[in-house]
Amino acid sequence: MHTVAQVRQEVAKARQQGARVGLVPTMGALHSGHAALIDAAASQCDYVVVSIFVNPLQFGPSEDFDKYPRQLAADQAVCTQHGAALVFAPAVTDMYPQPTLTHIDVDEITSGLCGASRPGHFRGVATVVAKLFNIVQPDRAYFGQKDAQQVAVLQQMINDLNFPLELVIVPTVREADGLAISSRNNYLSAQERTAAPLLYRALQEVVAQVNAGEHSAAKLRTYLCEMIANEPLARMDYAEIVDAGTLKPVEYVTGKVLVAIAVYIGHTRLIDNVVIEV
Ligand code: AMP
Repeated sequence: MHTVAQVRQEVAKARQQGARVGLVPTMGALHSGHAALIDAAASQCDYVVVSIFVNPLQFGPSEDFDKYPRQLAADQAVCTQHGAALVFAPAVTDMYPQPTLTHIDVDEITSGLCGASRPGHFRGVATVVAKLFNIVQPDRAYFGQKDAQQVAVLQQMINDLNFPLELVIVPTVREADGLAISSRNNYLSAQERTAAPLLYRALQEVVAQVNAGEHSAAKLRTYLCEMIANEPLARMDYAEIVDAGTLKPVEYVTGKVLVAIAVYIGHTRLIDNVVIEV
């Protein structure tokens, strides 16, 4: 379905029959990471809506909005196969029929990590997700741990604005060599693809160092930066060790921390993270 009115009507029917509604927001080009979200929703909800929308509000002027892959027919097949009842694929004019003057800004936790390198990104994400919540009114919404900051931002928004739903986090799905699956992996050349598992390897090295007793965030961060610098095809955007709740940098790894990195492999910016609990 393409229009807001159609979706509202269809979901209302399901809800009248007592269905528990799950929502999986995506930008399409669906892969096994998205499929894991749809599977989780289908196992916990009676009626699953997958939204497919490449949201212009969350892309910066020099980012890949125009070249972002769009493949609705193939995506629809994935949704059906994994148990979705409805695919909501609006055009930009369906989602934004008038210039948007109302935005959602989540403060503080958006200032570091991807928020620092992608100004306006989380404002775009929070605004479109709030719209999707209002359109679909799900009981549960499913998001991937791969985008850890996104999850933190959306949970904060849900709490702050009293959205009556539960956010469910789905673990990161990876290729056999550890690379987190992403629609942007398709941009990588063969040589870059060989280099890309570096992100996961570097994160696993940090986990090993923490397990071996190294708890200084500065030392672990330096170690991460060195590993990235040693790969000629890689250029670091950020490597941070932050409190998993506040997303503020920590001095020592204690409690629950998030180790998050963003690395350019060639021209493609990839992200990954691990949560460590000490
Ligand atoms: P996107 O289409 O990239 O906006 O992603 C839609 C949703 O799928 C987000 O909640 C992502 O965090 C999630 N997602 C993307 N890749 C993965 C992955 N490899 N494993 C788990 N979830 C993912």
